[in-house]
Amino acid sequence: MLYQQQRTEVGEKALALLTTGLIVGTSGNVSIRVGEHVAITPSGRDYRTLTPADIAVVNLKGEVIEGNSLPSSETPLHMAVYDSNPDVTAIVHAHSIYATAISTVLDQLPTIHYQMVELGGSVQVAPYRTFGTAELAEVTSKALQGRSAVIMKNHGSLTTGDSLDKALSRCITLEWCSKVYLRAMSVGSPNILSDKEMELAKNQMESFEQRRDAFRST
Ligand code: 13P
Ligand code: ZN
Repeated sequence: MLYQQQRTEVGEKALALLTTGLIVGTSGNVSIRVGEHVAITPSGRDYRTLTPADIAVVNLKGEVIEGNSLPSSETPLHMAVYDSNPDVTAIVHAHSIYATAISTVLDQLPTIHYQMVELGGSVQVAPYRTFGTAELAEVTSKALQGRSAVIMKNHGSLTTGDSLDKALSRCITLEWCSKVYLRAMSVGSPNILSDKEMELAKNQMESFEQRRDAFRST
């Protein structure tokens, strides 16, 4: 079987979306790129019953190479994101409740917490298009540009990374920030961090990353 390890991981992370409450039912999808191929969750299948063989392997045009299920309806979206972001090797798309709530009322999630450095700063809300279409893929990959997270209007969230762990942790961060913002807005006008503050936070994160690495290697 092609990419058994990656297909196993795709299945595990899709299940994690469900068990951590980020999604309900079969909403959302997960993929990993391996060179010229992508392992992606099947369309409309219960994540609790998936085996590695159920995870579809497609080429970068979205054509099936191996797998016994129909690939996700959002395969064109995943392909568009990989196409315009060569460093991205993993994608998580989720109909998570707070990011989806934000998507129905706002055009962006502003920088309300320094952890949004992880997402590339403020998160844009891409215009609404029908799910599974090339139009949705186009507007969403455009709104993602230069960042690792995007919110899709009246739909959900999409996060990227150079590993599935990273893409999933960004999905969780985006959901947490969306929740904080909605809660804060219900009692007042949230303070927004400036570009300068975000830059300082980014430098500080990098510095602590280096210090942790140095500590580990001693
Ligand atoms: P699939 O089950 O086809 O992946 O669709 C879920 C989804 O999120 C559509 O936007
Ligand atoms: Zn969706």
